[in-house]
Amino acid sequence: YATLSAVVKPQESAFDGKEAALLVDELRTSFNTGRTRSYEWRISQLQNIAKMIDEKEKCITEALYQDLSKPELEAFLAELSNTKSSCMLAIKELKNWMAPETVKTSVTTFPSSAQIVSEPLGVVLVISAWNFPFFNEPCDIARKLILDKILSVEPVIGAISAGNAVVLKPSEIAPATSSLLAKLFSEYLDETTIRVVQGGVPETTALLDQKWDKIFFTGGARVGRIVMAAAAKNLTPVVLELGGKCPALVDSDVNLQVAARRIITGKWACNNGQACIGVDYVITTKDFAPKLIDALKTELKTFFGENPLKSKDVSRIVNSFHFKRLESMMKENGVANKIVHGGQTVEDKLKISPTILVDVPEESSMMQEEIFGPLLPVITVSKIEDGFQVIRSKPKPLAAYLFTDNKVLQNRFVENVSAGGMGINETVLHVTLKDLPFGGVGESGIGAYHGKFSYETFSHKKGVLYRSFDGDSDLRYPPYTPEKKRV
Ligand code: NAD
Repeated sequence: YATLSAVVKPQESAFDGKEAALLVDELRTSFNTGRTRSYEWRISQLQNIAKMIDEKEKCITEALYQDLSKPELEAFLAELSNTKSSCMLAIKELKNWMAPETVKTSVTTFPSSAQIVSEPLGVVLVISAWNFPFFNEPCDIARKLILDKILSVEPVIGAISAGNAVVLKPSEIAPATSSLLAKLFSEYLDETTIRVVQGGVPETTALLDQKWDKIFFTGGARVGRIVMAAAAKNLTPVVLELGGKCPALVDSDVNLQVAARRIITGKWACNNGQACIGVDYVITTKDFAPKLIDALKTELKTFFGENPLKSKDVSRIVNSFHFKRLESMMKENGVANKIVHGGQTVEDKLKISPTILVDVPEESSMMQEEIFGPLLPVITVSKIEDGFQVIRSKPKPLAAYLFTDNKVLQNRFVENVSAGGMGINETVLHVTLKDLPFGGVGESGIGAYHGKFSYETFSHKKGVLYRSFDGDSDLRYPPYTPEKKRV
């Protein structure tokens, strides 16, 4: 990796359906030899991922530094160690995860024993998103690239742990790191069973035309539908990690400063709202809204200064399509006059300042679509419980947040609000816990992963009944005489 150009070279030959078919054939042949099933193979591949992260941390950092000409890379090295910790957890727990689980039998099968045995699914496809869009500072771009790769590597860890052959298709939005990842995977991992295919829509389409044993997709609902339709042709199971409109319900019974800081962190300090579990909108009571908005304004100033458009900690919008989309959301009839804070834009820099709006019309696109940007509508209700209905009136979100010290309300929220995951008096951080499943419900996705859930997502649970030849009884066999029926 002496020069970056060695690793960022775009793929030379087009990857079409024929190549995709050959690739899957090749991997299936390897899988059918049984090599990926052994504990030893799985452990060695996981150890190699950990080793790759250790040994190439500098190389990745350097590549990004050359790519982005910014030295501020330390922060996201921590993100790399996150992927490593997923790997270490899998290495530590793999024996336990792989062990068959003995379950009870019944009098019908007596004498017998029964087990749930995990088996690999076969050859699986992982398609990953450009999760964290480009930011205003190059170091943020670099952070996005690494996070993006983590999004790619995390499911691969699950697929390998469960003993599958795997093809990873990272997002084309980060070609430099995709190509680096392709190179590192071929250097560190078993090429006969683990591969990276770089590319965008044509390459993904070619891959989706093949028969897989599972497809794990991270991205938007539009492409999620394309993936699911393609998978349906072969009855291939899918995991869809999609997005949604994540609400934060804020009661008056809160530590106002802490709540405001955490909401800001889950919105503007979370890629300026361009994150799948970022806060999309806030619901609070009419009486409490002014206090909450004041607290948000105060903390916004503390975090990003008088002019947030100049703050290096506020990301820019990913591209001009999304800038215009967000701008027109703000300009919609009946919305523009609801802005109570922010609203400034700088088109040539793709910047939009943190913006708060109050009671925008329910039928506006801001309340109907995933905002995925720095606009925060605050919806007011007469009493806090009415917020439940607001949330229920929309498709189930990927995350839902509640701020209150009221334990009864907390319990009611957990019991009655359906969401992929939740944070009580917190935003976003639930995603960092490896013992919590991460995934959506309803329109925010299908299936979950992280930690052991990643292993299970890529395994089939096979029920096995063991009997000996002893204890055979005539009762179950024809002829079904009246005597037998009476027993
Ligand atoms: P996207 O759906 O545009 O792209 C995701 C992947 O699909 C990429 O690899 C891309 O190459 C491929 N793709 C794009 N168009 C395709 C097509 N027509 N046919 C086949 N493949 C195609 O997603 P995005 O814009 O990169 O990400 C933003 C969305 O993803 C947001 O909605 C966000 O909420 C969601 N997201 C969810 C999670 C999660 O963990 N649940 C994580 C990140 C992003």
